Formats: sequence, structure tokens, C-alpha cells
Amino acid sequence: MPSVTADCDACGRHFSAAAIPGDRCACPNCGKEWTIPDDTGIFTKCIFCDCPKFYVQKDFNQTLGCLILLVGIILVPWTYGLSLPLLWGLDLLMRRRTPNMGVCYRCRNEFRGFRIPEKLRDFHHFTAEQFEKKPPSASVE
Ligand SMILES: [Zn+2]
Ligand SMILES: [Zn+2]
Repeated sequence: MPSVTADCDACGRHFSAAAIPGDRCACPNCGKEWTIPDDTGIFTKCIFCDCPKFYVQKDFNQTLGCLILLVGIILVPWTYGLSLPLLWGLDLLMRRRTPNMGVCYRCRNEFRGFRIPEKLRDFHHFTAEQFEKKPPSASVE
């Protein structure tokens, strides 16, 4: 089931919610709602910040990846170093099997379970600089 992980701009809390195309998703903390466009529309404009740019990222648990490598390192004395390439391979395999998700360049909110359009590319620093949230200007109140 498609879902979004986002920072709610109304209450500021981080949340994950089901996002059925054509339906509404709501922040479980404050009840603010967003309309989810259909599969082709979801990556044309971010529903949270109107940003038109997204990048593709593996929906991979980095902590788990580090943990696997750590286990490999710990086991080195008992496996004569064999555990390291073995678990490194396992890590690679898991990454390859992990589905892609779309991430908004500006608000960094994550869109899981949607069909990723071909034009979506990996994270690119140059693009990020163009679309990233500008820090609030230091205005005098
Ligand atoms: Zn909220
Ligand atoms: Zn966004």
C-alpha cells in the first residue's frame, strides 16, 4: 500500500500515513489532510511543498546495514575473515531487493509504494541546491 512519511507543516510532527491515490491522507497528530493525486501525478508536484523535483532512493534501513557489517567485523576472529565478504554480500543483496521510493528535494518527505517514473533520478547535489529549502532569512522582528 502506498504511504508517505512526512513532517507535518501544521503541527511539526513527523508521521507516516497510508496514501491511497485519489484519496486523502491525514496527519495522525493534528488531523491536517492532503489530497493524494493518482499514480502519475504524485511525482509531478509535491503535495506538501509544491516542489516539482524528486529523487529516487532505496528504501533501505541504513542502521540495519551498519549492524550487518558490524556483526561481520565481530565474527572475523572466528571465521578467519570470511564473515566480512559474506555479510557484505548479504548487505548488497538486501539493498538490491529493496524497493525504490521517491523523495522530495525540498521537504525531503518520502513517498513509498508508488510507481516511480523513469525520469526520476538518484539524488543530485546540484539539483538539491536549487530546490532545497532556503534557510529563513534573518529578518529583524
Ligand atoms: Zn500534524
Ligand atoms: Zn516537498
